[in-house]
Amino acid sequence: MTIEKVIHDMPAADLDAVGWHDSARRIESPNCDPRPEGEIIRLVVIHNISLPPGVFEGDAVIRLFTNQLDWDAHPYYDGIRGIRVSAHFLIRRDGTLLQFVPCSLRAWHAGESCWQDRTRCNDFSIGIELEGTDDLPFSEAQYATLGPLLESLKQAYPIEAVVGHSDIAPGRKTDPGLCFDWQRLDAHHA
Ligand SMILES: [Zn+2]
Repeated sequence: MTIEKVIHDMPAADLDAVGWHDSARRIESPNCDPRPEGEIIRLVVIHNISLPPGVFEGDAVIRLFTNQLDWDAHPYYDGIRGIRVSAHFLIRRDGTLLQFVPCSLRAWHAGESCWQDRTRCNDFSIGIELEGTDDLPFSEAQYATLGPLLESLKQAYPIEAVVGHSDIAPGRKTDPGLCFDWQRLDAHHA
């Protein structure tokens, strides 16, 4: 076996064989299932979330993604009571990277969605949540974590595009919002 072959067969440096990132704090979510047989990971979807909206301390998002949120703890939660969702990754305001679902599994983050005439984007995408809102700038620390994470994902999978949730569910979703600086990603990748 040639060295090239050995290197090719190794998972990308930061991701293990099933797609756990080795610098992420792992908090496993049940809100996932197998991707369709033969499906290829080709898309990254950027979201934002905070619970209640605009509140950045606390663990409500972690509780939501692991089905442990107390729906009665805040009036806002009444509107999402019982939903079962999770992204693969969450980047907190301080840049901390959390991972809930290994990339090889289908996380339930995009909902009804369409990208390049293909529906059900969860089948072929990786979801990254940034702790935030549509109308507040994201932190430097978040961009500093997001850039290398995207590089790692592109090394590991044949990613064709990085899009916003609003791009694949227009009219239904507005995240990551106008404050998300797409040019920062382009600059990082240049
Ligand atoms: Zn979203």
